[in-house]
Amino acid sequence: MTTYPHLLAPLDLGFVTLRNRTVMGSMHTGLEESPAGLERLGAFYAARARGGAGLIVTGGVAPNTEGVIFPGAAKLTDPSEARTHRPITEAVHAAGGLICLQILHAGRYAAHPGAVAPSAIRAPISPVKPRALGEAEVERTIDEFARCASLAREAGYDGVEVMGSEGYLLNEFVAPRTNQRTDRFGGSLENRLRFPVEVVRRVRAALGREGILVFRLSMLDLVEDGSSWDEVVTLAQAVEAAGATIINTGIGWHEARIPTIATMVPRAAYTWVTRKLRGAVRVPLVTTNRINDPAVAEQVLARGDADLVSMARPFLADPDLVRKAAEGRAAEINTCIGCNQACLDAIFSGEVCSCLVNPRACHETELPLVPAAAALRIAVVGAGPAGLAYACTAAERGHRVTLFEASAEIGGQFNLARRIPGKEEFAETLRYFRTRLAQLGVEVRLGHRATADELAAARFDRVVVATGVVPRRPDIRGLDHPSVTGYADVIEGRRVAGPRVAVVGAGGIGFDVAELLTHAGDEPDPVGTFRAEWGIDEAYAARGGVGKAARRPSPRQVFLLQRKVAKVGAGLAKTTGWIRRTLLAERGVTMLSGVTYEAIDDAGLHVRVGGEARTIPVDTVVICAGQEPRRELADVLAARGVPVTLVGGADVAAELDARRAIDQGTRAALAV
Ligand code: FAD
Ligand code: NAP
Ligand code: SF4
Repeated sequence: MTTYPHLLAPLDLGFVTLRNRTVMGSMHTGLEESPAGLERLGAFYAARARGGAGLIVTGGVAPNTEGVIFPGAAKLTDPSEARTHRPITEAVHAAGGLICLQILHAGRYAAHPGAVAPSAIRAPISPVKPRALGEAEVERTIDEFARCASLAREAGYDGVEVMGSEGYLLNEFVAPRTNQRTDRFGGSLENRLRFPVEVVRRVRAALGREGILVFRLSMLDLVEDGSSWDEVVTLAQAVEAAGATIINTGIGWHEARIPTIATMVPRAAYTWVTRKLRGAVRVPLVTTNRINDPAVAEQVLARGDADLVSMARPFLADPDLVRKAAEGRAAEINTCIGCNQACLDAIFSGEVCSCLVNPRACHETELPLVPAAAALRIAVVGAGPAGLAYACTAAERGHRVTLFEASAEIGGQFNLARRIPGKEEFAETLRYFRTRLAQLGVEVRLGHRATADELAAARFDRVVVATGVVPRRPDIRGLDHPSVTGYADVIEGRRVAGPRVAVVGAGGIGFDVAELLTHAGDEPDPVGTFRAEWGIDEAYAARGGVGKAARRPSPRQVFLLQRKVAKVGAGLAKTTGWIRRTLLAERGVTMLSGVTYEAIDDAGLHVRVGGEARTIPVDTVVICAGQEPRRELADVLAARGVPVTLVGGADVAAELDARRAIDQGTRAALAV
């Protein structure tokens, strides 16, 4: 008897059977734009098909030039383009999987001057004012969706997903927020739904009876003047009647100011939306957002929230997620921690998508995992993310690895990160590494600070130094005052004296410390608390499901300071920085930039801001002023002529994050 009876149950669609209830959701990877990229995508998707994904949906591909998301982005408009997709469909089918092409028309989110929309209204997150489509152009666009679907079949896809959510073109026609037309595609509900429904009808005709047609329907826009709940239901029924095989859930427009997939969103926080639609249509429903664990997916299906579960980023983190669950090996799953750092943030910076916890994602052909030509004895010093990645990868290739860790547990700074409210998922990475180390037979010596003497005496073939970082001690008068403390002490729970705290340094760790200090405490119902805090209205009293946010007050008064004159938090990540800035601002955190630190004494922290002297009367000063590499061991070994490989913070501490640490550790171990 499996632990996941609902998740692993096949689903008969009448003309084809999905082998289980998992959908690998659509993600743009940055490889869609060239034939060479599509070859690499073949390897990427095939690995997920072998790993058990029930149905794979590709990244979005535009049905015409106006609809591309940026100039030169993927489109499918003629047979020669269709042929370039063959490596994907053939690889997936050879691996026993099914794959649909997502047709995405970016509408007013297109980042190019040719952007079009139902009405000429600029999106708040876009610099481009779109042109309103004429009525004949709307008709032409519908035909182009159908042509794209035919070409997808020619390319060997098992069907398509029509992207009708997230604030893209189809969604823009539905919502009064973006549709102010007065022709037969605007005004009444029937008119606003005409475009998406007609797209589905003609796409169905183009696919024939036996093509899978998934419609991604925005069930919760999370913007003002989005759809009402009745409109969501009416659209669902209309696309079902027009020929959809499956309805997938879309949550939140890109311009919504409510988090939908970041790590601080509780697991399965949005499946209630899909459940609300159940019973209104007969086609299977897919639910989504922050489902990263087969046990959670099983629970969601078992309680009847949906028929299928979509996971996108979790398949970047671990291609074998489903197979491991089915084989009773869930502890071996490399879990997506929802950080967005190597996937969405990378895409926004124009890089190829990957994964912080799995740097081989989308780099399968470039970073093959092959057995080592000769097994070496390797010492890895430091069990932070860099050392763990190195040790596991090297052992997987057949090397004999001994891992030294000075503290009593593996993890390095991840043991601090996982204690920050909203970053609890980081503990999953440590569970994964713990399981892998044991399985791979790595000799782990915890509570053992490795010395140069013992490493030299043991005559390892290689010594890898992953000793991480030490916090920087800034040059401020009074740094030894009893009110001053380091971030590790605060995060590990040593008491913070008094209700007024200054945080020196507003980088990633300064923000995390401020989050911890202003957090009102955990609640028994995290999903309910999340909804209340962000004003997500389950009752759907207003269009878009947006209600009034009820923030919980901070238990402390916090000042977050930096020397740079830029806006505090300007350097935080694109997709999550705004959430962190919003939360702290609404909890009343005072953010000061352009600060010069003068002294710390009984009166508090003395600073100059814009040249003006000021005393911030605080009880505690927490230092979060960056870090320096921890190099003593490497220096002594080098002086003795023992060659060392440096990875992670021990190598370069500036702008170090776990993405670089794990990537560097993995690549170094693949090269040895
Ligand atoms: P470390 O994690 O510092 O590990 C080094 C290890 O070496 C330690 O365990 C140490 O005990 C051990 N060691 C040192 N000397 C010896 C010795 N002689 N013998 C044996 N063992 C030794 N990064 C992100 O990408 N995203 C985030 O959201 C994020 N959040 C963070 C939040 C907080 C609060 C903190 C503190 C960090 C966060 N980071 C985040 C940063 C991330 O944790 C680090 O970049 C990463 O841990 C660096 O990995 P590392 O292996 O180089 O070093
Ligand atoms: P950081 O991001 O480099 O920030 C260091 C902060 O200290 C900056 O605000 C800097 O700003 C200040 N500072 C530097 N030198 C100083 C000095 N001599 N005196 C006073 N202030 C000084 O480093 P971090 O916050 O320690 O984080 C370490 C790494 O972990 C980062 O690279 C980050 O990527 C990663 N991390 C990521 C996340 C995440 O959510 N993605 C979270 C936590 C950590 P000024 O110079 O302007 O004062
Ligand atoms: Fe998940 Fe982070 Fe990997 Fe993206 S980078 S897939 S969010 S773990």
